[in-house]
Formats: sequence, structure tokens, C-alpha cells
Amino acid sequence: MNRNVMITCALTGAGDTVGRSEHVPVTPEQIAESGIAAARAGATIVHIHVRDPETGKGSREVALYREVVERIRASDVDVIINTTAGMGGDLVLDPHDPTTFAEGTDLVSGVDRLPHVEELLPDICTLDCGSLNFGEGSLVYVSTPDMLREGAKRIQELGVRCEMEIFDTGHLWFARTLVEEGLIDAPAMYQLCMGIPYGAPADPLTLAAMVNQLPEDAVWASFALGPMQMPWVAQSVLLGGHVRVGLEDNLYLAKGVKATNAQLVERAKTIVESMGAHVATPDEGREILALKPR
Ligand SMILES: [Zn+2]
Repeated sequence: MNRNVMITCALTGAGDTVGRSEHVPVTPEQIAESGIAAARAGATIVHIHVRDPETGKGSREVALYREVVERIRASDVDVIINTTAGMGGDLVLDPHDPTTFAEGTDLVSGVDRLPHVEELLPDICTLDCGSLNFGEGSLVYVSTPDMLREGAKRIQELGVRCEMEIFDTGHLWFARTLVEEGLIDAPAMYQLCMGIPYGAPADPLTLAAMVNQLPEDAVWASFALGPMQMPWVAQSVLLGGHVRVGLEDNLYLAKGVKATNAQLVERAKTIVESMGAHVATPDEGREILALKPR
């Protein structure tokens, strides 16, 4: 069992959750404040998306990322910064006329998903390691092998650690291929994202099968959505992984009780410590991930 467990707090995501909980941070100031509170509660890493302050919808605007990252860096808390680089892969099709891109499509090349990473040089950025039917309807998340190799190469050149997001077994196969091709620096970091329809289900045997496919020296974490978020902390620790909680993946602390990011981190910390493990400090996280010291 992994005795030194990193907690990532995924602060807001880009999902349609803003109207569903008043705690979901929207403006850069709110996202930064929520991240600082999560760090104080024990988060090792904060995973950052930004939202359009007017509409609350997910955004790729560099100025919004800049404000969030600068506010967190200027604060008196230490935390490892992980920005998403998954935005810009949304393809919405008209099912009856599938060569027409429908409203909601936001599709750019692998490298064009990275301008905020290039400017802000976070410690970590994500790389979604394959395409996926994302939820119901006709939304496809698009990330082809060509796009991924280009994106990985660029992230590598920037000296940013890449967190490979794995939504299904084939994504893991491709992530390992990237590592074997030398496109990902050691230690390779895998995030097993379970229960996102329609990728790998949040099922212990599915997770175990995926963990068995990881290379020996992999640094890995996993998470699940909604009511499975907290049980999955225990599940992940048991199998030797790191953990992720936060409002990107779950809005509730208990049935009917809406959570803040800090409360979710506190709860995860309690679970990790009850299992006899220790929550990694940001400095310990930097050591695990071979990141530059602060
Ligand atoms: Zn995310």
C-alpha cells in the first residue's frame, strides 16, 4: 500500500454544475480562493479549469488561467498546480447529418490546447489519452494519436509534468505507448478516471485490471464521480494509488448536503489517515513527481 498519498482537489471542472451548487467556483478569484482553502485543508495538488465569469461555462481563455494561477502563487499557501489541457476537444455532431459540427463544438489541435500551459508553466498539466463518447447525446471528446503525440512532445519541451488522463482501457494502452516512445518523462503520471459515461465504469475489478496494466514505476491516482467519490478514495489507496476529490467530480458531502472543496479534501484526508497512510505535503509531492522545488 502507498503510505504517502497525494490528494488532488479538482476545483471546478467545466461541467454544467454552476446552477446546481452555490459552492462551485466560477470567477478566477473564486477558483483561486477555493484552491487556497483546499490547500489549507490538506490538498497536495489543485487541478484547475476556468470558467467564463458571465456564463459559468468552461473556457480556454488564457487571461482567466493567468489570474487564478497568479492568485494562488501569490498566496501564503504552498500547493502543486495542475492545469487542465483538455479543453478544445469537444466535437458535437448532428446525429442525422454527422459531417456538420453542431453548436457546442470547440475543437482545436493538440498544440492549440496548450497556450495557457506555455505561458504559465504549471507544475503539471493533463493530457486526455484518447477519444470518448462523453455522456449522452452526440458529444465526442476528440484526442487522436497524432494530436496526442504532438501535445505530449510540446508539454515535454516546456518541462511541465504530464498527467495522463485515462478514461478507458485503450487509453491506458496508448499512454504506455507514449511512455515507451519517450514522449513522456519519468516518472510517468497516470490518472485513472472511472465512471465517466461512457468510459471505464467505477467498478473495483475494472480498476484492478487497469492497475495491473500499469508499468512498475508508474505514479498513479484514480477517482470516481458523485456518491462514489469518497468510497473511491479508500479504493484507490488500497490498491496503492493516490486520490482525487473536488467539485469537478462531486457536489455533495452527504445526501442533500452540498460540499465545498475544502470539506471534500478534509473528508478525503480523514479516510487516508484512517487507513494508516499519510497525506503528502506539496514538497513530498514534488519529490514523488520529481518536480522542481518551489
Ligand atoms: Zn479536469
